[in-house]
Amino acid sequence: MRYYVVNNTRFDKTDFAFADRNGKVNLGVALKCEECSSYLTSFEWLPPLEAKLSKGILGDVIFGTHNHFIISEKFRSIFLDNNFKGIMSFDQVTLYQNKKVISQKYYYPRIVLSNVKIDLIKSGVEFDGNGQCNLCQKAGRTITKMKGLCFDEKNEIDTDIFITKLLPGDIVFSERLKSASTEITNLTFFESDKFIPNWLRAITD
Ligand SMILES: [Zn+2]
Repeated sequence: MRYYVVNNTRFDKTDFAFADRNGKVNLGVALKCEECSSYLTSFEWLPPLEAKLSKGILGDVIFGTHNHFIISEKFRSIFLDNNFKGIMSFDQVTLYQNKKVISQKYYYPRIVLSNVKIDLIKSGVEFDGNGQCNLCQKAGRTITKMKGLCFDEKNEIDTDIFITKLLPGDIVFSERLKSASTEITNLTFFESDKFIPNWLRAITD
């Protein structure tokens, strides 16, 4: 099975609207590595979930100040109807555009944090320090270089969507889920073994 990383366009509103979390934002916990205690994820976004939309077309996928993405009812149906795995819950998000609540239903999916290991050699990953951790592979270090996201034991991946401990901000899709999502708007991908995060591309280019 091939894997693809979602191209998170964040605040690019050339075509599609992005979202900015609205009013008081309730934050929960951030997950820590059980072995080295370094933080793995950013703080969880807790209900009530509200966000303001920029100008632009309403896509099936909305990026912005939140982690990952907000998805439409259409995407949620495709995911559930096909019994795809990897989203723990779908929390409804109230979206405002021009100060009015939009009528379409949107959800914030809680995406599973996978235990899959990354082949650091094949991925060309370099860090800013010498820390070691067998569990998260990162030990609180920052990535300074990489040329792709190559998985160590692809066979151990048991969900169609997930985030990794190495790059928890980036969403990975299985080929099956990607193929089922061809009609979903504002969703583009990189092949996982060629994926370089935007923030890293910006400092190494
Ligand atoms: Zn660790």
